[in-house]
Amino acid sequence: MSVALSHDSKALTFADLTTMGVGGRIEAFIRPTSRVGLIEAVEEADSKRLPLAVIGGGANLMPTDVDFSGIVVRDTRQDISLPDEATPVSSGADRVHVNATAGTNWDDLVSFCVRIGLSGIEALSGIPGTVGASVVQNIGAYGCEVGQVVDTIEVWDRQLKVTDYLRADRLDFGYRTSLLKRTMYRSPAVPDGTFFPTPRYVVLSVTLALVHRRSAPVVSDQLAGALGAQPGAVMDIDAIRRAVLSIRAAKCMLEDPRRYANPWMAGCRRASELSEALDDASDLMATPPEDQVEPADPADHTAREDLLLNRHSCGSFFTNPLVDRQTAAALPDEAPRFPAPRDPSDPQAGEGRVKVSAAWLIDHAGFHKGYRLAAGAPASLSTVHTLALTNRGGATASDLAALARTIQSGVESTFGIHLVPEPVTPGIDLS
Ligand SMILES: Cc1cc2nc3c(=O)[nH]c(=O)nc-3n(C[C@H](O)[C@H](O)[C@H](O)COP(=O)(O)OP(=O)(O)OC[C@H]3O[C@@H](n4cnc5c(N)ncnc54)[C@H](O)[C@@H]3O)c2cc1C
Repeated sequence: MSVALSHDSKALTFADLTTMGVGGRIEAFIRPTSRVGLIEAVEEADSKRLPLAVIGGGANLMPTDVDFSGIVVRDTRQDISLPDEATPVSSGADRVHVNATAGTNWDDLVSFCVRIGLSGIEALSGIPGTVGASVVQNIGAYGCEVGQVVDTIEVWDRQLKVTDYLRADRLDFGYRTSLLKRTMYRSPAVPDGTFFPTPRYVVLSVTLALVHRRSAPVVSDQLAGALGAQPGAVMDIDAIRRAVLSIRAAKCMLEDPRRYANPWMAGCRRASELSEALDDASDLMATPPEDQVEPADPADHTAREDLLLNRHSCGSFFTNPLVDRQTAAALPDEAPRFPAPRDPSDPQAGEGRVKVSAAWLIDHAGFHKGYRLAAGAPASLSTVHTLALTNRGGATASDLAALARTIQSGVESTFGIHLVPEPVTPGIDLS
């Protein structure tokens, strides 16, 4: 376990550890190398009643600029194993369990599974962050969510001070939420006093149940279109992964792999996967983003760099609101509406609710791609994705929070709908 205490002028900051590149100085940073070390680090903070931030890749985190006077913990373990290997599946059974430690990079796990022919998570390719955090907000994309394939997670329960195994049916997965995430909040975006910004349950490892098959159905229309197939068509999982990565690259919805050059990020990704991501990043520069008429001129360094800055985000900053039927009906006819996803914490909710597009609301409230509060301001909406708030260089968390609040109040005054942030924002009130 390595402990870094930072008291000098070159102190470690959250800006070093987050994809958004913001956040204040960190008093103590612990990088456990074992399961026991991770539990001890959490206990070190909890027993002394110090603020605790267990983090992964910092891809869903926008901490305040104010210094963090507690302990930040990041699991360094990157272990993937196949527990069934000792007892190979017999004929007919094609379910295979894969276990990964919390600190494993999520996309490294996807790449591993696709390579050995396990299907189930290929549509979640390219989502930044770690395996541990994936189950906190139930990551999802292109019609799939990690909750659909979780078998069990092993956790350290900070309340009862025991380790436990939680099976998927206890995890109450919902749209960008889970039992773990709910332990952090009293209501959406309103932190609970006890377990925030880290859930009551610290994930030690996750076991997925995948299918031993090189093909899988393509659920999302957009993904099917990119593959030249009909929704529901069964496609090769490697082709699905490549299509997802290329859609994400065009929307700048992959993290900037150059962040791993920062010594504080060293060792967070497997070397082979990182070098592939760096190669893909150079390819992006030659690819015109979706709906951008003029591709960035590969010879124009400034334009290419500006495009790449769209990756300095937390992905989608707001969740798609779930509204009652009356509110949905009051929206203009062309506003996209979807059936509300299941919410296990509020079983009645699905019945009377409709999911509406946060991106559409933002755009139609007058905040278009590239929007910023003032000309040249370092915080802006992505120039290729309305839902992503980005740091164009030198933005502070308060710059981004001001942008987020302006968008929230603009959407609320135009459509009467309050947008809830998707990232965890310690020290910043966006409720
Ligand atoms: C470019 C970009 C694209 C994205 N696209 C998507 C997308 O398509 N779909 C999607 O769902 N998300 C997306 N995201 C959001 C992000 O990738 C996910 O939320 C991811 O799971 C965050 O992982 P992390 O390890 O970086 O978590 P962090 O940001 O480090 O932490 C987030 C939360 O998880 C908690 N946490 C971290 N590790 C543990 C642990 N071991 N045990 C308990 N709690 C823990 C933290 O305490 C914190 O509360 C995107 C982000 C970016 C930057």
